[in-house]
Order: sequence, then C-alpha cells, then structure tokens
Amino acid sequence: MSVKATDSPARQAKETGLFIPELVYFEPAALDYPKGQRILSWVKERGLPYQMTTSHNRITNLPGETELEQYKVAKRTLVVGIRKTLKFDTSKPSAEYALPLATGCMGHCHYCYLQTTLGAKPYIRVYVNTDDIWEATRKYIEERAPEITRFEAACTSDPIGLEHLTGSLAEAIWFMADQPLGRLRFVTKYHHVDSLLPLRHNGHTRIRFSVNADYVIRSFEPATSRFHERIEAAGKIGRAGYPLGFIIAPIIWYDGWQDGYAELLARLANALPEEATRDLTFELIQHRYTKTAKAVIEKRYPKSKLEMDEAKRKKKWGRWGQHKYVYPDEQAEALREYITERIFEHFPAARLEYFT
Ligand code: SF4
Repeated sequence: MSVKATDSPARQAKETGLFIPELVYFEPAALDYPKGQRILSWVKERGLPYQMTTSHNRITNLPGETELEQYKVAKRTLVVGIRKTLKFDTSKPSAEYALPLATGCMGHCHYCYLQTTLGAKPYIRVYVNTDDIWEATRKYIEERAPEITRFEAACTSDPIGLEHLTGSLAEAIWFMADQPLGRLRFVTKYHHVDSLLPLRHNGHTRIRFSVNADYVIRSFEPATSRFHERIEAAGKIGRAGYPLGFIIAPIIWYDGWQDGYAELLARLANALPEEATRDLTFELIQHRYTKTAKAVIEKRYPKSKLEMDEAKRKKKWGRWGQHKYVYPDEQAEALREYITERIFEHFPAARLEYFT
C-alpha cells in the first residue's frame, strides 16, 4: 500500500512508522533559518495544520476535554523554535554534557522520566538554530582539552524518532567527525537509521539502542519500534562501522524475567554481524520510580501493569532531591548477575559500563 503526502497524518504515521505530527507550531524567528523553512515545506506538502506561536515554551489551549486527552494531543504536537539557552546540562554517567537538539518524545513508554521532567509541556520541541548549538559544543570541547568531552543527544528526547523532520542528528554526526576531542552518543527506541548509514562519522559517534525483554516492550513501550526492528537497525549501524551499544532499561522483575532477558541476549547475538561485536557497550538500569512519577503514570496510563508497590521496593535517596524506589538488594543483585552472565556468554569482548 503506498502512502501519499496528502493522506491523513494518522494514516501516514501508521503506514511509514514515522512520527507525523497532527498539529504544528512555529516561532516566527524559526522561519528565518533554512531548517525552519524546510520543516514548513514538509508540513505544507502534507497538508498538516500549523500556526504561529510567540514562544516554544508557551503552548496552551491544546484541544481535548480532559487533561489526559490534552496529553495525548501534546504527544502528537510539534513545535519548531529557536534554542535560546546554550548552556548545556550535565549528563552523568554516560556523558559530560547533554546536547540539546530536541525536547519531548512521541513515544508512550509508561515509565519514561520525561513525564515528570517535562511537567506540563510534553509536546515535542525541535530547534532550528543548530549552528549556534555546534558553536557552543565547540567551546565546551575546548574548555576540557586535552580531555575527551562526550555529548549525549538523547537526554530530553529520542532524536532518531525526529530525524526525518530535522536532519539535526546527521549534522551532529558530521560535526563530531571533525572533532578530535569530541564524542557524540545517543540512545534510541526507533529503527529509522537509514539516513545515518552513509555518513562520515570517523568512529566519533556511538549509537546505542534501548532494548528489553519482549514482554517489557509489548507491555510498557507503545508507539516505539518493535524489538525485531531495533535489532535489525542495530545490525545496520554495526555494518556502517559506528561504535554500537545497548542500554537494557528499565530492567523489570516479572514472572519469567530470566527467560525474557536470556532470549533478548540470544536474539541480539543472532542478529549482529561479527564486526559489530568487537566494540560493544552495555548499560544496565533497573526500574525505579519516585512517588511523583508514580502519580503521573497512574493518571496517564491508568491501565498500566507496571508494578510500583513501595512495599516491594527499597527506598534510596535520589540526586533530584527525592526518594526513588528501586528493587531490594537481593533482587537487584540477581538481575545484575544473571543479565551480566548472559551478556558475556554471547559477547565476551563487550564492555559493561554500569549497572544502576
Ligand atoms: Fe521516553 Fe524514550 Fe519512550 Fe520516548 S522512546 S517515551 S524518550 S522512554
């Protein structure tokens, strides 16, 4: 079945698997940039409704009777603006700085921390003044020379899911290829990587896929690419010579978790070309939540099967000034040990960066 640009956004999205916004806002100044103009043409070609806004931080009155309906609309709303703050956030433990290419995500992962960090602004903001962003990046690299400086491009969004709209990730990869002391990394739950394959990356960009047991993906990660799609995309990235990695997160304790995570690692091993396994990293993050996050999740995904029972968890002081709930030590240790063993069974040369 072929998809026409004039088909409804929902149909285009269904057929292509790509994010097609249903409502688009532009800051007037964004149209002074070629990227802003390109996005406007793309929006017009598809007949998507759009309007102007004074600030990408002030989108109000989204359609919808209830807060939940407005949230769903916000997740399908794109705002095209200028990134004014060029002071980058820190991004421990995986990088020194967060690279601000976009804010917000079209995915509906029940546990996603953006639900609390973005608060009342869950719509998707992309920034068109990327030259300013590269200039700021260059300064951060110079400040730390001769140390290497790593930038994480997926702290506040999933940039692969937006790449067909912005092309910003491709620019970031080109930019970083020429930075002897700069490295780029990002993580994704989407498989639309074809436009990145021919780029000159110089080994300076590590692309990581967020993967999980099939049960977790099916139960808690709607509106993201499926397990087999992510694995296939990882194979392509490996063959294109990019350093590759996997984040297994959130690791969830459920009936049958051993089989689920064993299957995950076995399927990864089957799918990856040998050359992709020589410089492979794994990051492991057990499921955690705060009481604030729990309240938001229960409101937005009321039927979620995500277990958030304080009686079954260990309370830990989090760096955001709130308690978080993780698995008790015995369970966390069992998860860590079992999954680590499966990783090294299939990928003896892999590097485990952390379990948290
Ligand atoms: Fe959040 Fe990532 Fe899911 Fe998007 S894909 S909703 S950023 S966890």
